[in-house]
Amino acid sequence: MSFEDLGLSAPLLKAVAEAGYTAPTPIQAQAIPAVLSGGDLLAGAQTGTGKTAGFTLPLLHQLSAEPPRHPRVIRGLILTPTRELAAQVEECVRLYGKYLPLKSLVIFGGVGMNPQIDALRRGVDILVATPGRLLDLHQQGEIDLKHVTHFVLDEADRMLDMGFIHDIRKVLAILPPNKQSLLFSATFSDEIKALAERLLRSPRVIEVARRNATADTISQKVHPVDRDRKRELLTHLIQSQDWHQVLVFTRMKHGANRLVEYLEKQDVSAMAIHGNKSQSARTRALAEFKAGTLRVLVATDIAARGIDIDQLPHVVNFELPNVPEDYVHRIGRTGRAGAEGEAVSLVCVDEEGFLADIERLIKRPLPREVVPGFEPDPHAKAEPIQLGRRVLNGSPRPGQGNGHAAGQSRGQGQGNGHRGGARAAQGAGPAGGQRPRGGGSGRPSQGDAGRPARARGGR
Ligand code: AMP
Repeated sequence: MSFEDLGLSAPLLKAVAEAGYTAPTPIQAQAIPAVLSGGDLLAGAQTGTGKTAGFTLPLLHQLSAEPPRHPRVIRGLILTPTRELAAQVEECVRLYGKYLPLKSLVIFGGVGMNPQIDALRRGVDILVATPGRLLDLHQQGEIDLKHVTHFVLDEADRMLDMGFIHDIRKVLAILPPNKQSLLFSATFSDEIKALAERLLRSPRVIEVARRNATADTISQKVHPVDRDRKRELLTHLIQSQDWHQVLVFTRMKHGANRLVEYLEKQDVSAMAIHGNKSQSARTRALAEFKAGTLRVLVATDIAARGIDIDQLPHVVNFELPNVPEDYVHRIGRTGRAGAEGEAVSLVCVDEEGFLADIERLIKRPLPREVVPGFEPDPHAKAEPIQLGRRVLNGSPRPGQGNGHAAGQSRGQGQGNGHRGGARAAQGAGPAGGQRPRGGGSGRPSQGDAGRPARARGGR
């Protein structure tokens, strides 16, 4: 199957060829003809599958085939959960649409409104936005959504995770009823299904790459190590194996900052990217990392969502995520679209339970490899893990088989419970069972959402 077979116009085929794509990925092969046929679509696809081109290419095809509007009006709207993802999606729109006379714009919170307002007034065909800023500018009368004919909700599951459901409902309420709608989501939880029922009319349903499957091109391993020697081990791996472009995950923002300080002292260039960083600091860190001048980027889960760097060679879980699905998202940063990548996890005794959860989810054991000189103390005792105001027990849970405990370990009853529902629904994956997550989602860095106050229902 080639891109020519999919029925895309010549200017798009030219741009795709220049991007170096020789053949459509499976999601593209299915989604592009489905979208071109005009109906609604519910697509299950994770980042790394080529999903962005899967909706961007047919959107551009259709909008350029319609008679142009003078002045320009917003006809295509793409909603994404994070600023980074919004910026990357709009970059794709511009890249693939470079030979078409369409104008696109990205808007998100955390930066000044005026340049966005100016650009909107000059006229836009395709708008890529995060929900909060879109609603703010709409409320101020700067955005007219009455002419939208094509609507895409990207990474819908992550939007729900981040508490954007009310904002999404508000956006749906102001969009015209007659439009083509596409919903992309990595998972099909009950909440996603409910959202799809509300938004989509007799949609085609396509799903590529088994849910929570990890790409075969990613080699994964675990280095057991003592908790207080992780920093040393990370530095050792980076230096002895001469790693460049290493994306490192921590659970908490301050953990990310501390690790950056340590790496800098060891002469390893590093920057952190998380919700407490200004937009310009995040953009700079990402640009330097992409350009190869920054060796290590340390990120929290939400900040990393949507980071799209081609052929990222190394992902390190400095700390394992307490939500096993996040492991799959994290390592999805590497080995993208066929490129090879390596994901290593530094695991201390406190995290053995998290590791068991992850292995259950991905349905295979991860190979353990002790690095000589970093042998863990066999008598070390597991300690609880502090996650904001929550205390998690990440150690193996006796009597729960494979260390997978539902109740006591997941911060139950510790937090304010404001988002427990969304994650509990998502948790109904292959790992089975609805796990109570009374303390919320285990994502401390909601600030990355762009509109945290609104996302939590307040202002
Ligand atoms: P996405 O899943 O949209 O985040 O895309 C993942 C990566 O795959 C991006 O870096 C794209 O540039 C790349 N990509 C998308 N489509 C193709 C294709 N047909 N062939 C090769 N790479 C692709």
